[in-house]
Amino acid sequence: MKFDIAIIGGGPAGLCFASALAKTELSVLVVESQTHDAIADPAFDGREIALTHRSKSIMEKLGLWQLIAPEAISPLCDAKVLNGVALQGLTIERSHGKKAELGYLVSNHLIRKAAFDVAKTLPNVTLRTGVKVTALNTSAAGGNLTLSDGSSIECSLIVAADSRYSMARRAMGIAAKIHDYGKQMMVCVMEHDEPHHHVAWEWFDYGQTLALLPMNGNRSSIVVTLPENDIRRLAPLEPDFFNAELSQRFGHRLGKMRLVSTRHAYPLVAVYANRFVAQRFALIGDAAVGMHPVTAHGFNLGLRSADALARGITTQADRNADIADATVLATYQRGHKCATLPLFVATHALAKLYTDDSRPARRIRDFCLAVGQRLPPFKRLVAASLTGAR
Ligand SMILES: Cc1cc2nc3c(=O)[nH]c(=O)nc-3n(C[C@H](O)[C@H](O)[C@H](O)COP(=O)(O)OP(=O)(O)OC[C@H]3O[C@@H](n4cnc5c(N)ncnc54)[C@H](O)[C@@H]3O)c2cc1C
Repeated sequence: MKFDIAIIGGGPAGLCFASALAKTELSVLVVESQTHDAIADPAFDGREIALTHRSKSIMEKLGLWQLIAPEAISPLCDAKVLNGVALQGLTIERSHGKKAELGYLVSNHLIRKAAFDVAKTLPNVTLRTGVKVTALNTSAAGGNLTLSDGSSIECSLIVAADSRYSMARRAMGIAAKIHDYGKQMMVCVMEHDEPHHHVAWEWFDYGQTLALLPMNGNRSSIVVTLPENDIRRLAPLEPDFFNAELSQRFGHRLGKMRLVSTRHAYPLVAVYANRFVAQRFALIGDAAVGMHPVTAHGFNLGLRSADALARGITTQADRNADIADATVLATYQRGHKCATLPLFVATHALAKLYTDDSRPARRIRDFCLAVGQRLPPFKRLVAASLTGAR
């Protein structure tokens, strides 16, 4: 079988990239190892995705945003960073970002469903589900994929969107910086007595990191980061005990908390590929940059990579030129590195400092937040990053 572009992975980045090529006449194949049902109607996976204004615009352009029910979108007004036992920390207000809200929260499974619903209607996109890509290679003439059912695919360009643990990246000999933080994140939705006022929290407490992402009503997506052994004990805990422990971990700042969803655990691993392109090959989404979730930018940057690469390819297709031209791929790589590397490095440094509980680190943690709180230009910079303006 022959296609212009073969995409490995029908996650949110892979499907959005396919949809971004809707206006071209290029034939696009998406190969996804999960079953058709699993990606057509994805199950709740615990993740509430904080989306920037830029992501909202891209999703509108692709026709995804319109498919998400308005009541499933919660506004993210302000963001608060807390340190240790202190009640005051750093607050980034919506006014710093010059918008009515800093961003929006949408469940990952709803984003995935909308991405699938758009892609399935496109005449130039073919979805093959329930099969894995097991091998790939490229040459000056084209790319070749081998699938787990024994079939093979020929194409002009291979795009890998196969997660931060990308097999395609390895197969193509692309090294990556991998930071394993040795912790797990447990995510779930909880109701609580006190209102959240649509303020997101990132609380670097001593011995634990807690995040709260405000959903509509008195409900929040809760992210607890702890060593794996602690998550193994906490995740299956009987609900009454779980509720009591979480209310206590949050210092009863939200009153009583009640679990209202399933619980999901993810390893805390960040990845940055050394290169995003090779001959007739490109990485997008988490396969290129798998962010630490503390700055809530993983999918935002993945969407940006899909949009940037699709724009370069569309220009080439309009000119009847080679869609896998090395200069086009190099331009994509340069642009996406500029957009992601400073944030990736800063996030890693922040995560290291704010999980170091030594006495000097605690002092520096307090000092940085206190200085940040008094520096409006710094707050505007953070707000610009959260809204996606920068
Ligand atoms: C707890 C948590 C909270 C998060 N919060 C945010 C947030 O607030 N904001 C934000 O922007 N991001 C957030 N993220 C990050 C976001 O979820 C990811 O960036 C995003 O899901 C990555 O999408 P992707 O399509 O690149 O990869 P994935 O979602 O990992 O999809 C990869 C797909 O490829 C398929 N695949 C893999 N290998 C093969 C193969 N060999 N053959 C065929 N198919 C294959 C997989 O089945 C999968 O469907 C969060 C992540 C976590 C864990």
